Amino acid sequence: MTEGWERLRGMLQLEQKKRYTNVAVVGGLDPHLQRIVSEYRLPATHRFRQVLEALPGRGYAELHPIQRKRVVEELLKALAEAPPAIARPAARRTVAGMQPKVRAPGSLEAPVSLFKGLSRTYVSKLERLGIKTARDVLFHFPHRYNDFSNVCTISELMIGQEQSIIADVWTAGPTTVGRRKATEAVIRDDTGTLRVIWWGQPFLARTLRSSGKLALSGKVTAFRGRLQMENPEWEPVDADSLNTRRLVPVYPSTEGLPQKVLRKLARDAIELFADQVSDELPPALVSKHKLMPAPKAIRQVHFPDSREQMEAARRRLAFEELLTIELGVVKRRQVWQQDAQAPPLALPPAVEQGFIESLPFVMTGAQARANRAILRDLGQNVSMNRLLEGDVGSGKTVVAATALLAAVASGYQGAIMAPTELLAEQHYRTFARLLDAGATGSGDGLWFSVLGSGFVVLQPPYLERPLRVTLLTGSLKAGERTEAQQAIAAGQSDIVVGTHALIQEEVSFSRLGLGVIDEQHRFGVLQRAALREKGAYPHVLVMTATPIPRTLALTVYGDLDVTVLDEMPPGRPPVRTHRVRPDQRNRAYEFLRQQVKGGRQAYVICPLVEESEAVAARAAVQEYERLSQHVYPDLRLGLLHGRQGSSEKDTTMRAFRDNELDVLVSTAVVEVGVDVPNATVILIEGADRFGLAQLHQFRGRVRRSQHQAYCLLLTENASEEVQERLRIMEQVDDGFQLAEEDLRLRGPGEYFGVRQSGLPDLKVASLTDVALIEETREAAIRLLEQDPDLKRPENRGLARRAARLWENISGEVS
Ligand code: ADP
Ligand code: MG
Repeated sequence: MTEGWERLRGMLQLEQKKRYTNVAVVGGLDPHLQRIVSEYRLPATHRFRQVLEALPGRGYAELHPIQRKRVVEELLKALAEAPPAIARPAARRTVAGMQPKVRAPGSLEAPVSLFKGLSRTYVSKLERLGIKTARDVLFHFPHRYNDFSNVCTISELMIGQEQSIIADVWTAGPTTVGRRKATEAVIRDDTGTLRVIWWGQPFLARTLRSSGKLALSGKVTAFRGRLQMENPEWEPVDADSLNTRRLVPVYPSTEGLPQKVLRKLARDAIELFADQVSDELPPALVSKHKLMPAPKAIRQVHFPDSREQMEAARRRLAFEELLTIELGVVKRRQVWQQDAQAPPLALPPAVEQGFIESLPFVMTGAQARANRAILRDLGQNVSMNRLLEGDVGSGKTVVAATALLAAVASGYQGAIMAPTELLAEQHYRTFARLLDAGATGSGDGLWFSVLGSGFVVLQPPYLERPLRVTLLTGSLKAGERTEAQQAIAAGQSDIVVGTHALIQEEVSFSRLGLGVIDEQHRFGVLQRAALREKGAYPHVLVMTATPIPRTLALTVYGDLDVTVLDEMPPGRPPVRTHRVRPDQRNRAYEFLRQQVKGGRQAYVICPLVEESEAVAARAAVQEYERLSQHVYPDLRLGLLHGRQGSSEKDTTMRAFRDNELDVLVSTAVVEVGVDVPNATVILIEGADRFGLAQLHQFRGRVRRSQHQAYCLLLTENASEEVQERLRIMEQVDDGFQLAEEDLRLRGPGEYFGVRQSGLPDLKVASLTDVALIEETREAAIRLLEQDPDLKRPENRGLARRAARLWENISGEVS
């Protein structure tokens, strides 16, 4: 019980050596002197206390060195007497002493509440992270590591480095700096002393003092010209090294659940249960791909012995995750191709010829190639499962129309599903126009008249019989919808154009031969499966303007054949894209006005508001009013947002298309597919909020004609990162490159449909790791060749994994 006493003696002696400059300890002697008084509860009569009480207001610090000398000598004398024998409570904190109640035999499914030392609060917080059992603990992997493996002496510490030291606590006590409460300590080893401060943890002192020799790890900073550590990780040196002196795991966590708790829990779970984790990969695969065995990988991913071990462990776990996905994707593709029951659909040459000749343009080479590939697939009795990938404006719609015509000509129904009502309605009219053009010479008379009713009957000259195109969206009136559904079920409708409404339960087709999904990135695997189920074995064509990086083509879209439209219709110069600083806003408005004066039209896109469609709509209304009243009082403005009814949207789009509006103010709803060739400039507010691929989609809205088009990117955010991203938009016109860039910068987010793809959240693997994805793809193909149903004993573990992963989309597998 004389530790504090002895420590203070050391300090005072050092103070003598330093010639009473009060720099022997960080922060000066006063706090330490006071602490001794309270720590030992020194009575007022104690000599030590009397010396202190004789000091002036600000204490020792205020004294002249000569006075200090005397005081120090007095204090040393007082200390030479035996310290009062007071019992200091030395209870250890339980966090560090957590002990599992359950020793063997235990099971991986043991609930975490059995781990001793875990409070109920912790248990419920763990549950919030999805951690309920020992297995969950083992599979809750760190998302990063602090590299504290550099252990050195205090004299070797360097500012800015992450380092570890082993030292004694010399002093420790609560303090306040300004208004911030903290614990301040001075620690020392043979080479020197160091100030350490833990912000916001004023009650740490006692634990520190009673913990013996400490290991501390953290970043070295400077305080008043001297080195210090702030909020370092620490633990007693004789304890397991979980928090210091190594690569220290940092786990995804939640408020109020300290890393220390997670680390201790992981260590306990590993000691007890890691060896019970069975290797789900067949041994041959493990050795062929040089993978770490599962129990070792679990150990090393939590507490790696080295960086190499950590990487090997993560590779093993990522391999397992990706292989599971690939098994599902490859299997799904095989199952799909085994069904030789799809209706072969053929487009008679005369019909194709008639259709092509009726078009107001000549198909591009890419469109013709895509048509050939698709028609070849459709002619088989194996269901087509193809992705048509083409940049915005590359002309996917007419390719879809050709395929749908093949279905109709073969006596089957075709359906096309779009992500928004606006787009469904546009497709509806486009088909009406494309398929009717031969009869009327111009579809324009019909263009808008068909709306309002749920269907239109066309008689293209190249078809023997009339063709009924039906629109099915959520906003049809009940009567119209029933009528549409009846026509679809009775087989009277040849082509059905719709939104999600198409895949609702109450919709059933009489003979669906082909389903097309437009803007696939807005849908998920589940919707694809649902559309497929509307027919016996229909062919499926999915279309997207989002270029699919190779990694995603192998995973999320791994069961599809891919056709790329790599050619734009002729005579469309690339869009000129410019960043606009906030102070150049008026110039941008003026530029829009010039374009309008020249007969063109413009879009203004409002910033993305995440909260809700309603909030976004309100923001758009405000922007619309501001522009109408203050910026363009003399121009004709329109407003488009997601909360408008479809007839309102339609009226606006129609007016815009007919050049009755000069400027269309819109939320992101205009992003997909809208087609108004006379619009040549798009001004995007809050451009930093959008992803690159999405900005490219917007830009595609104005690349629709031979006029030079412009895209202006406005942002208040001047950060270099944002500017760099937008600079990429200025320089790169290739949607493919932008998508790769997006994937690199933002990771595979919602934009690529990964979130809705039915894929699990990957814990270790990254969807950007092409090499590993390719490796697992090949492994999956080989495994399924040798053992198509994964029935062999050594493959059962994998079969289980795959089943767990794919059960939620089994509808598609079976
Ligand atoms: P996207 O691939 O973005 O869906 P669309 O199918 O909407 O593109 O076509 C964009 C525009 O280009 C439409 O106005 C369409 O009529 C027109 N278009 C399509 N193919 C051609 C072509 N071969 N030549 C000229 N214009 C074309
Ligand atoms: Mg389109």
